[in-house]
Amino acid sequence: MSAETGNGEDSLPSAAPAPWRATILTLYPDMFPGPLGQSLSGKAIADGKWSLDAVNIRDFATTKHRNVDDTPAGGGPGMVMRADIVAKALDAAAPADDPRPRLLMSPRGKPLEQARVRELVAGPGAVILCGRFEGVDERVIEARGLEEVSIGDYVLSGGELGAMVLLDAIVRLLPGVMGGAESGTEESFESGLLEYPHYTRPREWEGRTIPDVLLSGDHAAIAKWRRLEAERITAERRPDLLERD
Ligand code: SAH
Repeated sequence: MSAETGNGEDSLPSAAPAPWRATILTLYPDMFPGPLGQSLSGKAIADGKWSLDAVNIRDFATTKHRNVDDTPAGGGPGMVMRADIVAKALDAAAPADDPRPRLLMSPRGKPLEQARVRELVAGPGAVILCGRFEGVDERVIEARGLEEVSIGDYVLSGGELGAMVLLDAIVRLLPGVMGGAESGTEESFESGLLEYPHYTRPREWEGRTIPDVLLSGDHAAIAKWRRLEAERITAERRPDLLERD
């Protein structure tokens, strides 16, 4: 009944696309869906617009004590996730012919941007490996062609929250998830600018009013004001965004 069987004569032309599919590899599967089970993304799971599968890496451990990590070669603090265990978990969750990109949450990765989020939205899903301890053995990153993704220049204790950030950014853009077809296109970063300021009722609050133009009903003037405000705020706060074009 899914679109994956869409070649058959009995499939309807209007059949829904296969849901966007996330597989998370983690030592803490109980953290999922967590916040992703609420609000827009939670409703989208319930509606079959995307799916989330959390795989416990520890299920692939081979030793009696089910170790997934070991001491770093060359010495130093902390522990490193073993290449062999991580690879087994990855290969079981996503065999070689699985078309989904394989991502590793990592502070060494390319910082996540809206453009990469859009690309991922357009694909079939993602397999996301969450690191813990000092990270994962470099050889599994190379051998499985993992794309390292960072959510910012700071260090988390594990990849799980990063994976949730990434998935939240993706899921809200999946077709039919967010109300209002335009609400995704005018936002910060979509046009290379930060967004203009928003206001709502009451008209006056603590002596502060809403800019007159927004109450004028003149849509062209409102659009112009918003554009100028977006440019002003971007120049003030993120001049680097203006230099990118
Ligand atoms: N020793 C590593 C940090 C390990 S933090 C270093 O100095 O680079 C443990 C795990 O948390 C990482 O393997 C990664 O999966 C996750 N993590 C930490 N910071 C992150 C960030 N900024 N973005 C994405 N994942 C992060």
